[in-house]
Amino acid sequence: MSGHRETFDAVVIGSGPNGLSAAVALAQGGASVLVLEAADETGGGTRTAELTLPGFRHDVCSAVHTTGILSPFFRSLPLEEHGLRWIVPRASVAHPLDDQPAVMSWRSVEETCAGLGADARSYRSLVAPFLDNPEGFFGDALGPLAWPRHPAMFAQFGLKAMWPATTFANWRFQQSRAKALFAGCAAHSILPLNKMFTAALGLIFSIAGHVDPWPVAEGGSQAIPRALERLLRELGGEIRTGVRVTSPAELPAARVYLFDTSPDQLASISKSALPSGYLRRLGRYRYGPGAFKLDWALDGPIPWRDPNCLQASTVHLGGTIDEIVAGEAAMFRGKHPERPYVLLCQQSQLDSSRAPDGKQTGYAYCHVPGGSTVDMTEAIEKQVERFAPGFKDRILARHSMNTHDFHRYNPNYVGGAITGGVADVFQLFTRPVARLDPYTTPNPRVFICSASTPPGGGVHGMCGYHAAQSALGRMERFEPAPLSPV
Ligand SMILES: Cc1cc2nc3c(=O)[nH]c(=O)nc-3n(C[C@H](O)[C@H](O)[C@H](O)COP(=O)(O)OP(=O)(O)OC[C@H]3O[C@@H](n4cnc5c(N)ncnc54)[C@H](O)[C@@H]3O)c2cc1C
Repeated sequence: MSGHRETFDAVVIGSGPNGLSAAVALAQGGASVLVLEAADETGGGTRTAELTLPGFRHDVCSAVHTTGILSPFFRSLPLEEHGLRWIVPRASVAHPLDDQPAVMSWRSVEETCAGLGADARSYRSLVAPFLDNPEGFFGDALGPLAWPRHPAMFAQFGLKAMWPATTFANWRFQQSRAKALFAGCAAHSILPLNKMFTAALGLIFSIAGHVDPWPVAEGGSQAIPRALERLLRELGGEIRTGVRVTSPAELPAARVYLFDTSPDQLASISKSALPSGYLRRLGRYRYGPGAFKLDWALDGPIPWRDPNCLQASTVHLGGTIDEIVAGEAAMFRGKHPERPYVLLCQQSQLDSSRAPDGKQTGYAYCHVPGGSTVDMTEAIEKQVERFAPGFKDRILARHSMNTHDFHRYNPNYVGGAITGGVADVFQLFTRPVARLDPYTTPNPRVFICSASTPPGGGVHGMCGYHAAQSALGRMERFEPAPLSPV
């Protein structure tokens, strides 16, 4: 294969976890690879920065790496040797309630069940079948739509996953505690919980918590792209930052091009190289709701009413299942609920390098309608204060980002959508458009590898890995050339 200065086997546009994973997989396959990144540093949704005060290191986007630690591709790479260390909490989730102790998802199923009263048996039998072979389960769950390697286990999953989270939780559990825990996990889908398949994420996240509790990366999420970057360079790959690609003319000659971008950028950058029918279909892609996020520099730990909450990497603030369902449904209809469902992460509780001695960082966001500019600071802080009286007195400084800030920060966050687009039944496996191989486009030299392809949002690199396999399979057919029409 070729490899002289301005000609590459593969050019990857964008260096998020999927772009870097694609580049690593291509380089492992013997390709010469160039990665072009618009920002001054690599990482996309996995950067870490001092957003509030000196010495407080905040994850700008992703914080807790449930899918990262379980990613079959990441697990196959020597990322630890390149500086990545996962820090695993005792509990993945704390779900505080108004008038009782918080519901906890501990690593141990039995400890978790001890807090679920009459639903203990039902919860145990829900997660147990997937814990015998978690690698097999997550290998199938994090792949594109294909015949699963473990069909019996996957069928068992599918029969549960296909239900709306509300129907499933109300059928499966009798009491408010298990229902709230399940709803909090399912709400990561950023969908109304009465939609088909919203039980899927509830299940996946619940199971994950008993395999490798939802971890953070030591030193910040940016340890993930740093490790991938080092590995890529070791494999001979090249990275150029500060290069925002806007047209094919800016791309060096290559055999194949992989876009770690949103579908709308794929369309606008390569419109001359893609047929109009495909461009129209990309134009119909739905991005969905966005996020409003706060980062705090704190004078000490969050004063949770139930101190167990400090043991969890993630705290779901939203009360009962009914409250979460109502809030997320309203948000999906374009409203801003007074009591939003809030995802809060406590990285510095697990990783002392994130804040100066005696201090803590805080991280929380809620879902908001796409393009929203409403300031949700008060609503989010009220939700924290509700379960942690005195919280506001601990705030030394705060930093906020609305949907416009997110889109400016990363062009992939269209309208502030943070996970690559709506992951409902119509777009989960057929993202960005329905094709047998969703990573390909009608131009055989152009591929898409971002979170807008299966298996979708999250830091796992699997979109990049699968796209790279598609590209490697076709690469030899082409000579390096500029990106041109089919
Ligand atoms: C607030 C927030 C919280 C999140 N929390 C979590 C979490 O806790 N856990 C988790 O697993 N996931 C989380 N996510 C989602 C996760 O960050 C994304 O799903 C993931 O980063 C997607 O990876 P990607 O490689 O597809 O794209 P991205 O990470 O978005 O990277 C794309 C890269 O491409 C670059 N780029 C785009 N267009 C161009 C261009 N034209 N030219 C050159 N470069 C370009 C961008 O600058 C960017 O660096 C969160 C996201 C946000 C915003």
